[in-house]
Amino acid sequence: MNEDALIAQYFTQSEVFSKDKERYKARSNESTKMCIFYDEGCSIYEQRPAQCRAYPFWRVLLGDKTLWDRYAQHCPAMRSNEGKLFTPQEIVAIASKSPI
Ligand code: SF4
Repeated sequence: MNEDALIAQYFTQSEVFSKDKERYKARSNESTKMCIFYDEGCSIYEQRPAQCRAYPFWRVLLGDKTLWDRYAQHCPAMRSNEGKLFTPQEIVAIASKSPI
């Protein structure tokens, strides 16, 4: 499968990711609305997209508390102390690699 066919089959353009450039996200399952690569965990974890590696330290989230709070409604690690804690330096380093 060539790159264009792979992108067409597994990815879709995203409004959030395409404000300034062409950006793609993994397609969602029509019935579950979950990422098609999610199966009791990320089935492509080692090859997951850059935005998944940087999440939740996307620059768009770090710069918008309202948006951060909205995403945190669906991510327990963002709203509790049960997830891994990061130093400010670690957060800056991860955010610098975020595509959004
Ligand atoms: S981490 Fe994996 S399962 Fe989660 S959104 Fe990214 S590609 Fe999909």
